[in-house]
Amino acid sequence: MSSKQQYDFDVIILGGGLVGATLALALLQQGKKVLLLEKKPPKTNLGSLSQAWDARIYAVSPTNQQFLNKLGVWPEERVQAVNRMQVYGDGHGHISFDAASVNVPCLNYMLENRYLLAKIWLALAENGVTIAESRAQSVKTDVWSAQITLENGKSYRSQLLVGADGANSWLREQVGIEVGAFPYQQQGIVANFSTVKPHHGCAYQWFRGGDILAYLPLPQQQISIVWSTSDAEKLTMLAGEDFARQVAQAGHYTLGELTLTTPVFAFELIKRQPKTVISQRVALIGDAAHTVHPLAGQGVNLGFADVQCLSNLLAQSSDIGSWSLLKQYQRSRLLAVRMMQQGCDGLFRLFANDDLPGIGWLRNQGLNMVDCSGMIKNRLIRQAMGL
Ligand SMILES: Cc1cc2nc3c(=O)[nH]c(=O)nc-3n(C[C@H](O)[C@H](O)[C@H](O)COP(=O)(O)OP(=O)(O)OC[C@H]3O[C@@H](n4cnc5c(N)ncnc54)[C@H](O)[C@@H]3O)c2cc1C
Repeated sequence: MSSKQQYDFDVIILGGGLVGATLALALLQQGKKVLLLEKKPPKTNLGSLSQAWDARIYAVSPTNQQFLNKLGVWPEERVQAVNRMQVYGDGHGHISFDAASVNVPCLNYMLENRYLLAKIWLALAENGVTIAESRAQSVKTDVWSAQITLENGKSYRSQLLVGADGANSWLREQVGIEVGAFPYQQQGIVANFSTVKPHHGCAYQWFRGGDILAYLPLPQQQISIVWSTSDAEKLTMLAGEDFARQVAQAGHYTLGELTLTTPVFAFELIKRQPKTVISQRVALIGDAAHTVHPLAGQGVNLGFADVQCLSNLLAQSSDIGSWSLLKQYQRSRLLAVRMMQQGCDGLFRLFANDDLPGIGWLRNQGLNMVDCSGMIKNRLIRQAMGL
């Protein structure tokens, strides 16, 4: 099996969430033949999606914004630029990040998961993607190819099979990749609110012992929150008005009283580190390859960076699933992913830990020291921006 004619597709991608769908689009635009397998295709009617706001909001870095813009899927509407961020410790510590201090128009962009996903799926249709709306049943690989068989009995062969099937990846398990899972014993609560005071494009984050609360600005004087907490069960049982009061209080009424505008969702927070992100003719991307604590809003950003890395490598290669290419992909992504996972983990544990005497004072003092150090602060901003 070395002739291209014997493949049904160049690449088969399992999972059409933000990361898998973006890779499919990037490869189609390179002229590759792509099959996208998605068990639950998203809604793509932008008019009806604009009737309400999605509580699943992402902070997308400027580097990834440029990438999505180049693919032609960046929405002009329903996006909020963040130009400032205020972070408060659980004592006297405070640090602020300012776009102007690093001469950039904004730190990142807030936008809805489902709206961006719809834009990408509309572009996929325009670019002639093949979609299979079925679950995969089995997978076989050899030195030259990967073959996937679906529940509907159909089988397809490709040079490369990509697993973009999320945190509990089926493909990862099928090819026998072990994964280290480290639960934070917390859930992330997300919901949107309208505010009394304007946010002026500023994001806020409060470390509250083990809990972390973020206010993320949205258009039309709204915010989205991510509250990482071990009290999720109690908080999500509250009536809307009571929950809004708790969120306003936890955020020191910085934006005044809040009014809940969406349902409230909660997710388990788990760091996942697969032993490897490649196997014979297989690569993992996005949450299938890594999950991080949401405190830095970097989960999907890491996934978009996987897409850029893998699609660049595939653009330059004739054997697009070769072992040397896959090893290069793994090598290129490992450091950035591990640094982000350890960074988020370290920060989470620093504030969750009260066992050592003086640790509370020290961590708040640390925030103040970073706040005064232009150099370290600029480096942190640039890293979060993907620069
Ligand atoms: C509370 C919280 C807040 C977050 N905030 C941010 C943020 O601000 N910024 C940020 O960058 N990230 C954030 N993240 C992380 C972000 O949600 C994920 O990193 C991102 O959604 C991963 O995208 P993905 O495409 O890899 O996976 P998913 O979105 O999980 O997509 C996987 C897709 O695969 C499909 N699928 C799965 N199995 C199969 C199968 N067997 N057959 C066919 N299809 C299949 C699913 O239907 C789905 O469409 C947050 C996460 C949480 C929990």
